[in-house]
Amino acid sequence: MPFRKFVQGYKDFYKNYFQSDSNVYEELVRHGQSPETLVIACSDSRTDPAIITGGQPGEMFVVRNVAAIVPPYRHDTNHHGTSAAIEFAVKTLKVKHIVVLGHSMCGGIQALAQLDKAQQEYEFLAQWMDIATPAREAVEAELGDANSPIKQRALEQAVILVSLNNLMTFPWVAAKVAAGELQIHGWYFDLKSGQIFRYKEKTQSFEKLAATLLGQQAEGEDAHKHDENNGECCC
Ligand SMILES: [Zn+2]
Repeated sequence: MPFRKFVQGYKDFYKNYFQSDSNVYEELVRHGQSPETLVIACSDSRTDPAIITGGQPGEMFVVRNVAAIVPPYRHDTNHHGTSAAIEFAVKTLKVKHIVVLGHSMCGGIQALAQLDKAQQEYEFLAQWMDIATPAREAVEAELGDANSPIKQRALEQAVILVSLNNLMTFPWVAAKVAAGELQIHGWYFDLKSGQIFRYKEKTQSFEKLAATLLGQQAEGEDAHKHDENNGECCC
């Protein structure tokens, strides 16, 4: 894909937002940003959260890293880029939702599955993925050492759960969740089908966020009604 495509893309963006009736940026400059959602997504070029969800400028605070991993809370002298983004989103922007957006065919998760090999190939990647070793151990205990698409998918989803658990190790995240001021969500994007699956605590499984076929009622909407009745957030 030619690089100059992006130059044309920028021209279109400028035309749409700065040479039109749009006042989106005018408002964002005047009032500052106030996104209600932090998305932690993978760096993978196929999983841009704004493209997948139709997010517009100012609506979504995003941090992307390899495999959408949240490291555990560590208050030390090391550099913590992802933790810094989470801190700013929670303490300053006061987001109401945090979404961990994992996905299928994740190269980072493939490295985690073969961590010994990754340690020989990469200077940084293997150590980063080592954060999610509890997920690999859990999946290996359940599915064995066999390398299979089922195991890869299980590992991709298990890593999302590790990130959700790690999010709760941040004391100010846990406090806001306990106070009902913040909800955290685990989403899994399947590149092949286009479906997003959300983690549901009650069933401890990933379920479809919404049906995408025309003419079908969104399953997510059904679930929302159901969960509203039970006083739970689902999405
Ligand atoms: Zn990925």
